[in-house]
Amino acid sequence: MASTPLVFSGIQPSGELHIGNYLGAVKNWVRLQDQHECIFCIVDLHAITQAYEPAELAQRTHDMAVGLLAAGIDPARSVLFVQSHVVEHTELSWLLTTVSPLGELERQTQFKDKSQRQESVLAGLLIYPVLQAADVLLYRAALVPVGEDQVQHLELMREIARRWNHRYGAGFFPEPQPQLTSAKRVLGLDGQAKMSKSLGNTIGLLESPEAIWEKLRPAATDPARKTRKDPGNPDICNIFTIHQGFSPPAVQAEVAQNCRTAAWGCLDCKRVLADHMIAELTPIRERAAALQANPGGVRQLLRQGAERARAMARATMAEVRRHMGFLDAAGGVD
Ligand code: SF4
Repeated sequence: MASTPLVFSGIQPSGELHIGNYLGAVKNWVRLQDQHECIFCIVDLHAITQAYEPAELAQRTHDMAVGLLAAGIDPARSVLFVQSHVVEHTELSWLLTTVSPLGELERQTQFKDKSQRQESVLAGLLIYPVLQAADVLLYRAALVPVGEDQVQHLELMREIARRWNHRYGAGFFPEPQPQLTSAKRVLGLDGQAKMSKSLGNTIGLLESPEAIWEKLRPAATDPARKTRKDPGNPDICNIFTIHQGFSPPAVQAEVAQNCRTAAWGCLDCKRVLADHMIAELTPIRERAAALQANPGGVRQLLRQGAERARAMARATMAEVRRHMGFLDAAGGVD
């Protein structure tokens, strides 16, 4: 396995993965493990910047770990851990706030969107991208797989790294580069909004074949196909986007052709998709069942992941503290 550049990516502990996060991020992560040393983090400290239920957070974090492991994140090759288990994330985040430009933070599109939905805007939401910068810079990672919506945060992260380097240590932090995923964004089954658990428009990664078909059958398609005889446009159909994630290229070409010529109906198209989804997701569901049956084993893997992450984080923080001029806590006194 090549050792550089080091990849870092995080995912919120939203509980069970759905096919939107799987196709948009996790499937790419699984592939990246073949080419890079990777660090994958379940970002529970980010999750608490939105309203959440404390009694459910630990279970959602555990379930996310199960989903990632079942989908193919391999703890023997990659570091998989929970953000709050490595306290250096919060420490570095604070230090980085002192070089983070307030104007840039306030200009972040996600901050503007989310703050409009909060009655009283909380500071955690504003400095969310600083914690993201800490996540990545703590491991001096050079490559960050992101979707289009995170590119602005990554640019800010690079700005924060430049400012810190300029003030405290030239070249210490690499400026992380985005790795844009080629996967098109999967919409929810309504074909309207982004696939999201809170909108109830998802297919869970671990759903049974019957449940997958139940949900796929009524899912939105190209509205131009009012009757079986109307030709459709696969380029604007969310079902075709999902085909592009699960079906082989030859099947995708067949789908596009049969859609445009109305050679088959949407139900035929969805049945083919369901078969490919079920073939890919069945082994994942079986691995998840085995992991769920052994929660202690999952906790053990996360503990080991955190130990590996902590060792890297501590080494970075020792250097960061030295560069910033703090008195060494372990040092002697003259
Ligand atoms: S045939 Fe398939 S790709 Fe075409 S509109 Fe129907 S579901 Fe979408």
